[in-house]
Amino acid sequence: MRSLQSEIEQRGRQIFELVDNHPESLFSKAGFYQRLMALSMRDERLKLQLFRFVDVLPSLGSSGEIVEHLQEYFADANGSQKVSELLRAGVRLARIVPWISGPVLRWNVSEMARQFIAGRNPNDVMRTLRKRRAQKIGFTVDLLGEAVVSETETDEYAARYLDLLESLAHETKDWTDPLGKNSELFPVVNLSVKISALYSQINPADPADAIAHLAPKLRPLLRRARELGAFINFDMESYAHKNTTLELFKTIFAEEEFRDWPHAGIVTQAYLRDSEADLRNLIEWGRARGTRFAVRLVKGAYWDYETSKSRQNGWDCPVYLQKPASDANFETLTRLLLENESIVTSAFGSHNVRSIAHAQAFAEELGIDRSRFEFQLLYGMAGPIKRALVEMGYRVREYCPVGELLPGMSYLVRRLLENTSNEGFLRAKFSENVSVEDLLRDPCEILRRNRNGVLPPSNATKNMTTTTSGTHPDASYENAPLTNFALPENQEKMRAALREQRKQFGCKVPLTINGEKIWTDNMFSSVNPSEPDQIVGYAAEAGIPEAERAVAVARAAFEKWRRTSFEQRCQLLERVAEILDRRRFELCALEVFEVGKPWAQADGDIAEAIDFCTFYARQMRRMGRPRLTQNVPGEESYQHYWPRGVALVIAPWNFPMAILCGMVSAALVTGNTVIMKPSEQSVIIGATLMEIYEEAGVPPGVLNFLNGKGSVIGAHMVDHKDVDLIAFTGSREVGLWIWETAGKTREGQRELKRVICEMGGKNAMIVDSDADLDEAIVDSIYSAFGFQGQKCSALSRLIVLEENYNRVIERLLGAAGSVRVGNPEEPSVVVGPVIDEAAYRRILDYLEIGKSEATLAYQAKDVPQHGYFIPPTIFTGVTPDMRIAREEIFGPVLSVIKVRDLDEAIDVANGTDYALTGGFFSRSPANIERIKAQLEAGNVYINRPCTGAIVGRHPFGGFKMSGGGTKAGGEDYLLNFLIPRVVTENVARHGMAPEKTPEYRDEFLWPKK
Ligand SMILES: Cc1cc2nc3c(=O)[nH]c(=O)nc-3n(C[C@H](O)[C@H](O)[C@H](O)COP(=O)(O)OP(=O)(O)OC[C@H]3O[C@@H](n4cnc5c(N)ncnc54)[C@H](O)[C@@H]3O)c2cc1C
Repeated sequence: MRSLQSEIEQRGRQIFELVDNHPESLFSKAGFYQRLMALSMRDERLKLQLFRFVDVLPSLGSSGEIVEHLQEYFADANGSQKVSELLRAGVRLARIVPWISGPVLRWNVSEMARQFIAGRNPNDVMRTLRKRRAQKIGFTVDLLGEAVVSETETDEYAARYLDLLESLAHETKDWTDPLGKNSELFPVVNLSVKISALYSQINPADPADAIAHLAPKLRPLLRRARELGAFINFDMESYAHKNTTLELFKTIFAEEEFRDWPHAGIVTQAYLRDSEADLRNLIEWGRARGTRFAVRLVKGAYWDYETSKSRQNGWDCPVYLQKPASDANFETLTRLLLENESIVTSAFGSHNVRSIAHAQAFAEELGIDRSRFEFQLLYGMAGPIKRALVEMGYRVREYCPVGELLPGMSYLVRRLLENTSNEGFLRAKFSENVSVEDLLRDPCEILRRNRNGVLPPSNATKNMTTTTSGTHPDASYENAPLTNFALPENQEKMRAALREQRKQFGCKVPLTINGEKIWTDNMFSSVNPSEPDQIVGYAAEAGIPEAERAVAVARAAFEKWRRTSFEQRCQLLERVAEILDRRRFELCALEVFEVGKPWAQADGDIAEAIDFCTFYARQMRRMGRPRLTQNVPGEESYQHYWPRGVALVIAPWNFPMAILCGMVSAALVTGNTVIMKPSEQSVIIGATLMEIYEEAGVPPGVLNFLNGKGSVIGAHMVDHKDVDLIAFTGSREVGLWIWETAGKTREGQRELKRVICEMGGKNAMIVDSDADLDEAIVDSIYSAFGFQGQKCSALSRLIVLEENYNRVIERLLGAAGSVRVGNPEEPSVVVGPVIDEAAYRRILDYLEIGKSEATLAYQAKDVPQHGYFIPPTIFTGVTPDMRIAREEIFGPVLSVIKVRDLDEAIDVANGTDYALTGGFFSRSPANIERIKAQLEAGNVYINRPCTGAIVGRHPFGGFKMSGGGTKAGGEDYLLNFLIPRVVTENVARHGMAPEKTPEYRDEFLWPKK
């Protein structure tokens, strides 16, 4: 008996021989697509530009626009000389005869897309399916679509699926099974369904909510499929949707109505590390259910997305990082499937001859008939392999996407990436002519050799290795990872924390002055804005005497704290970061209750607080040591920094942990002593931060916690002669008052007061005529309504070019109508309550103003009656002079302003008192450059939401009436808390000077008294 490996090789060679009789035309040298592929494979940068151009092309209205974009993308293309010349010639030609080249290009791209898209509509696709039938190739049809952004769009989608099903069943009613054997396992009509197309609000943290919305949409489709004798497959998408898809599959097919129906299938992605556990679990489920089901095994289509997404969020990467690891796992799962053939019908979705040959050989070894499983391949790819498999007597099904070019763009780009991937089988075989021996090599063997260092690691692995971390100032900075709520264990931890936190309701917190816990006669309550009769906690209220005492002890503690080494101060911050991380879920739960933050927003706030601690510690290590200014013989000049003195930190409730912790940490690490005053609305969170600092070892008096009315104790301390620095984040009104008041010098005052002042915004995003609306709509909704629009960075003016105004509005209103409003204890809630009754009333007033000034285009209807819930609202017909376009509302209210062109859009965006954040959605490189240069905002975001700044990556803060120009979480933020000082010494004696001057001198930092 031959070994499995030699059996695989023998089968692999047979496939290659059959393939070589009909080589793959996609990789030949002729034609537009083939040229595009060749260019892309030669130069990665060019590939990026080419694919971006292909992506925008279908959405461009006129030939002139096409030519403009062509020029912007490729006018200075580099790469090999030949390539550049070719592209430049193309651009020149396009400029001279745009009416020819625009349509010609569009035609070429359409033709290219048609290679991968089997038809525009159900009728159109039948032509292809009939041809394939003649070749003994079956089909599964997939509906291409735009990313759905609203429930209206998902309803349309569900209706299209039903239509497609009816039409396929009707057209193929007399078709028979190509193999004529075991046909009961493989219905002719096979539909592939994507769950993300059926519910626009899937939140990975809440599979139950997704299932509750998806199941009713799926049942009619499944019912009809069953009546028609068709097969339904659930495709698998990104990792975030994986658990929901699996749960949905198991839930719905266990229902009475469907539990004895065998024609349901799901996809397993072998590139996922947890795919084996999932598949085992699925097989167990199938056995318990007692009816056959099907699994399509693939490697997975979202490798680049998953790797970059997990890196951005600091998550463990869910996919294998070496290509042979995915290949080897594909083989492991192939064996698992075939070993369980009695309950599961397998479909192997691969173009890789090694993967295919392995499945064939293993099935043979187990004695499974060729007609009991199938190979599935994509339309437009690996034609010769399909033909070879048919010739060998195997069952072959083609995955046929149906739809228009514009909605099909992301599918097309995925295929282009796959075909040009350095790691891909098709490129290796058909473009690079890798030897048969190498193509059929055992992936486990390759992995073993990689590990022994015989083969270089793949590019991907190299890119994924993280840089050294640690406390060294030169180590690259790594942000705290966000909690991945797609993982069930994190969902459970959060639910448990919410339950636990409820038990703490009604707790009492004291003031902390000089390490002493102080209770006063006045206690005030902090309530849950979702249910205002629930009291989260009571806090002792400070009056003027406590404020006086706090200033005095902070003053007294300053002398010692300023002499404490910066290293000790940095370590204090790092201990705080550790505690925040340890208590993460508890703190998130507290935020849900005290300020109404949805789960992910609360988690983002705690992550940001951690980042502030670790980032400022690192910055302080960089700037803490006295540093030589210039190397001059005979003279030494060292610049270094002294703390300013007593810092008063006044923080808002909207980022109750991050902003408070950020300002306090910056003040402490630089050697100032601090009085922290949290917002009255988030005082329990503030007291918890105090507790954390104490646990981390902050000395008595160095950090003092005062809770009280801003108008009383805040005002008193701002004006105090012994306060040297005020770090404030909050409203414009209070900020300007502080700015002015702090400018007056009081008798006995030592320092000119420094004010670090961050205020509001009236932030605008511009939607260009060529913007990708799938992204622009989703990101606008998130930026405007996330955390109820109560972020200073939130979007409040959407500026839309008239060219695509109608389409934007149609999709925007639909998307707004689908956003979930409710109590943020539920993980899928996006919009919770506003902070308190005063805010609630103020925003309601603005809604009235909006109604009198503009057109109320959308207002949510079903919002909870109890609690401070404001319905998300959109006004259209807004002009720049209206109050709702000028004044900060700080609630879920969006004004849409229509403009003629980009010039007007920029004028409108810049025409406010504020300059905090701004955004732009566009695929025109020239327009993007313009916005980068001209948009007046401290933080400009292109093609992404305008909220969610990350410490170190997006230093945050604005100018004009948005703030004093400081950047929290930026390189130079700590300078605001310091006084720079230079010490110069003439070290020459009679012309004799030391040869070398050290770069750093630490001696005079902490003089002995
Ligand atoms: C009929 C059909 C249906 C499909 N349905 C789905 C679906 O529902 N969901 C889905 O996600 N995919 C699906 N795919 C899979 C996907 O679209 C790709 O076609 C498939 O992954 C390519 O694998 P291959 O075996 O043909 O090629 P190969 O060239 O052997 O493998 C390429 C694959 O290897 C993996 N890979 C690439 N680089 C690395 C690396 N550095 N480290 C680790 N792994 C790496 C990636 O998954 C990549 O796609 C389907 C494929 C087919 C044929």
